[in-house]
Amino acid sequence: MTWHDEIRAVTGTTRLFGCIACPTEHVRAPMIFNRIFTERDIDAVMVPVDIPTEQLADGIKGLKALGNFKGAAVTIPHKLNLAALCDELGSGARAAAAVNAVRFTDDGRLLGDNFDGHGFVAGLLGENPTDVSPELILADKSVLIFGAGGAARSIALSLAEQPVARVDVTNRTHRRAEEAVQLVHNINSGADVFAIEATEIDFQLYDMVINATPLGLHENDEMPLDLDLLSADCLVCDIIMIPERTRLITAAQRTGRPVHIGRYMLDYQLDLIGEFIGAFEKNGA
Ligand code: NAP
Repeated sequence: MTWHDEIRAVTGTTRLFGCIACPTEHVRAPMIFNRIFTERDIDAVMVPVDIPTEQLADGIKGLKALGNFKGAAVTIPHKLNLAALCDELGSGARAAAAVNAVRFTDDGRLLGDNFDGHGFVAGLLGENPTDVSPELILADKSVLIFGAGGAARSIALSLAEQPVARVDVTNRTHRRAEEAVQLVHNINSGADVFAIEATEIDFQLYDMVINATPLGLHENDEMPLDLDLLSADCLVCDIIMIPERTRLITAAQRTGRPVHIGRYMLDYQLDLIGEFIGAFEKNGA
């Protein structure tokens, strides 16, 4: 018997939580939260909520109308647009201009926050895929982030608070890389964070690269970067969760480089998301 068979019964008092995305096939949060609800005997359920991009505002309006829909994890492609629909943003969301968690309050307001960057850094230090002690993983390191969306922005912000040497952000649409860097500087004006054009990257410079694009979600996706260009001991990170080992991660491992997989980023921010959306409250609390 697996935990799937033991999932808590849904009744008339069960509170609803969602994982808002489009499409929803790649989301992991419902599996994880439903297991926690079962383990902690919390009368709640989390379901995937598939809202097409152009119907986000209508979808959120509909969810607001449900008395027992309390909150949601938020992922691709809604993190930025949903931030704009929130009535109030926490510091992580304000800094990244993106949300990965929203709470629907009883008085009809929508609160948003973002814990992605915290999850990435905590997961990296907690799981430590390198052979140095955790406090040295990021010390004086040069990091290159691929992508400038909600997750990439949040990671850039959190890395900028660590003792790194520099963080470079590169993105298919360069303007968005510049915006991401500007957001970091709005919070941390002295941060050594830069936007870099794809054609100007010197891959040998980096101690660590992070794929924060969706490239790798599908089997036939192109690789986000050419591993042959990286230094031999460069730490290769992917934030994609499904598949757990993307082509990038598998190929990097084959070359003997240390790797860090995406599932830890969510694992290490679950408690923060759960607290924020009110998922861990017992009914009547
Ligand atoms: P997002 O806000 O939509 O941003 C996506 C980013 O990827 C943008 O910078 C976009 O570039 C770039 N991109 C999209 N398609 C691309 C392509 N075909 N080639 C090159 N670049 C491309 O998404 P997000 O929320 O940041 O999420 C990004 C990925 O991280 C998703 O796969 C998501 O599943 C994963 N994720 C994992 C965790 C975790 O806990 N492990 C948390 C959050 C997200 P443009 O600006 O040019 O469009």
